[in-house]
Amino acid sequence: MSVWVIAEQREGTLQKVSLELLGKGRQIADKLEEKLVAVLAGYEVEKIADTLIKHGADEVIILDHILLKNYTTDGYTKAIAQIAMERKPEIIFIGATNIGRDLGPRLAARLKTGLTADCTGLDIDENTKNLLMTRPAFGGNLMATIECPNHRPQMATVRPGVFAVPCADDRRKGKIEKVAAQIKESDIRTVVEKIVKSLEDKVDITEAKVIVSGGRGVGNEEGFALLKELAHLLGGVVGASRAAVDAGWIGKDHQVGQTGKTVRPNLYIACGISGAIQHLAGMQESDFIIAINKDETAPIMSIADVALVGDLYKILPELINEIKGYKDSCDIHLIS
Ligand SMILES: Cc1cc2nc3c(=O)[nH]c(=O)nc-3n(C[C@H](O)[C@H](O)[C@H](O)COP(=O)(O)OP(=O)(O)OC[C@H]3O[C@@H](n4cnc5c(N)ncnc54)[C@H](O)[C@@H]3O)c2cc1C
Repeated sequence: MSVWVIAEQREGTLQKVSLELLGKGRQIADKLEEKLVAVLAGYEVEKIADTLIKHGADEVIILDHILLKNYTTDGYTKAIAQIAMERKPEIIFIGATNIGRDLGPRLAARLKTGLTADCTGLDIDENTKNLLMTRPAFGGNLMATIECPNHRPQMATVRPGVFAVPCADDRRKGKIEKVAAQIKESDIRTVVEKIVKSLEDKVDITEAKVIVSGGRGVGNEEGFALLKELAHLLGGVVGASRAAVDAGWIGKDHQVGQTGKTVRPNLYIACGISGAIQHLAGMQESDFIIAINKDETAPIMSIADVALVGDLYKILPELINEIKGYKDSCDIHLIS
């Protein structure tokens, strides 16, 4: 019996969510006194295996095959299902990325077991030793804790950004095992002709240490230039509420919240955002929150470390000037 984390790589680069899952997976495996195993499918991906060990895996199973070079539903499902049927893990965690959300349900159906999608909380029931999988339901208005008592493995896809990446421990040692995946070309019904990456100015708000985020209160696209200026001054990026994204003032890449990204920066500045539960779900783990809002009763104000009541168009230019002056006089980086 063991706890598995399906490690996700793209073009040989390990995705951050896999490390987040190893951190949480380690805690769960320790509670169950079982091994934590990372399963890494791909082609010539051995060099990543060590990183998985250093971040908490006891073992890495590498499913290596040229047909696994690019993700395909058929190829990955077959290869992973085979090894899971053989070794019978107790639990399988998958990152709820586009790939993970595609793979998870296929794998669960193949293994005839239960899957909870997009979990934001994971624990073990002290008495039954079952996995407790918590996820927002009904638009985030309800948190549902789901168990899978009668079938194994217990499977969950897990929201990226919810769990912290554990520190790497260079002294950790583990077993790395390469298994030849039993798949052939005819198993795979999709052909990846080419992978096209967006040429837009891509932002990864999940990696940012500082996020200056804007909502409906910003009022228009031009207002986001002010937020961008502040973000640049602080070495951060711009985030947004869904209302601002829906209004077309900024791209979907910037959206924070339940249907956007989950972020946990050192500093989150919410400008003209009311703090709807679906927005809070994506940012309430931030280390320090500053809220700027005209309405002192807006829900965001009650979770903020510093709440500034006023018009963002008055406050932001002053803040920008102050920071510029401070930077000029001190010649230091405020937040690095
Ligand atoms: C299933 C579902 C999923 C959702 N997912 C998400 C999600 O991922 N992310 C998300 O953000 N939302 C999401 N929502 C929408 C969410 O419920 C809210 O509608 C949204 O977050 C509101 O955005 P907002 O705070 O920008 O706008 P509003 O709620 O309209 O708030 C605007 C705020 O700006 C303030 N304001 C106005 N003018 C100024 C000014 N000049 N200076 C200072 N303050 C000012 C106002 O006082 C107000 O508090 C989801 C909803 C559903 C049903």
